[in-house]
Amino acid sequence: MKRPKISIIGCGVSGMTTGIVLLKEGYSVEIITEKLPEQTTSAVAAAIWLPYEIKPIELANKWSNISYQEFQKLANYPNTGISIIPTKLLLQKEEDAWWKAAIPNEFIRPLFPNELSVDSTCGYMVQAPLIETPIYLNYLLNTFHTLGGQILMKKVEDIVALSTEKELLINCAGLGSRELLHDQTMYAIQGQIVQLQASNKVPCVLAEYTFGAKGEELAYVVPRKDCVILGGTLVKYAEDTSPKEVVTEGIIKRCQELVKEIRGLPVKNIVVGLRPGRPTLRLERIDNLIHNYGHGGGGFTVSWGCALEVLELVEGRRIGF
Ligand SMILES: Cc1cc2nc3c(=O)[nH]c(=O)nc-3n(C[C@H](O)[C@H](O)[C@H](O)COP(=O)(O)OP(=O)(O)OC[C@H]3O[C@@H](n4cnc5c(N)ncnc54)[C@H](O)[C@@H]3O)c2cc1C
Repeated sequence: MKRPKISIIGCGVSGMTTGIVLLKEGYSVEIITEKLPEQTTSAVAAAIWLPYEIKPIELANKWSNISYQEFQKLANYPNTGISIIPTKLLLQKEEDAWWKAAIPNEFIRPLFPNELSVDSTCGYMVQAPLIETPIYLNYLLNTFHTLGGQILMKKVEDIVALSTEKELLINCAGLGSRELLHDQTMYAIQGQIVQLQASNKVPCVLAEYTFGAKGEELAYVVPRKDCVILGGTLVKYAEDTSPKEVVTEGIIKRCQELVKEIRGLPVKNIVVGLRPGRPTLRLERIDNLIHNYGHGGGGFTVSWGCALEVLELVEGRRIGF
């Protein structure tokens, strides 16, 4: 049977991962995109493997588990920007660890009482994939090109017209899908992060609960090679991407209480990104248009699982992973 030529809208983590999976199966793939990876939301992410602000839970766990296994393989190659690091996840309620099912048993253990913070009552030490986004997005882009993928720089104005022109179109436009599809269920989830000077003495620690009266303040510390990321915020329906001084001060204070090793490290940069929020991630096929968007705060975490699900929709059969 003749294989369709595939066009993908979007060059963030979702579009590139989907493109690579399809190229490896022998499809001809082009990405049509308004922005290159370094200008996308994907470039702002921390990023650590953890299903967060992403639904439905059962599928998020399935896709996260598949991605976990793929990241374990990629961690064997230093040029990917992936490494597996001990990550302390602090909780206030055991039921908040809904993502436990996505982690193989040998890579997770409960925290001992002396490992908890003042605000937490339980938690887990997880061997979690760290995704150093500046390196990893480049790795994905290079892999996409090496496998023969093409990139066309263009803003898509009319997705319906484009889908009639193309043999098979895959929508990985992130928050751009709100305008493209008039998807009123989509919303921005604003996140500010602070980048400190890199240090190899800083552990990875994430509080899985919110701070502040509105529950919009987070605390997490992610040590990368180029910087230490401090997060953050989670403000639904906020669209402004300019950093706020008062927010920066709050992030640094909360993170210093969590991880004392960051004290004294100078600030390098402050960034704000808009996570593509949706009540549930959309991954479905309608005729020759496949949607893969609305990944919220977990786009990297589910990326390989979602890309394989797209492959199943392309081929119209269960491959079974
Ligand atoms: C502060 C912060 C921290 C985060 N931390 C993590 C984390 O630790 N772990 C994790 O898994 N996730 C994290 N995330 C979430 C993650 O970044 C997103 O879920 C993910 O980047 C979404 O990727 P995407 O490819 O779907 O969308 P995007 O990265 O937004 O890419 C969308 C692409 O579509 C293109 N596009 C849009 N509209 C059009 C159009 N009309 N025509 C042509 N092209 C178009 C854009 O140009 C872009 O190339 C974080 C996000 C933020 C903001």
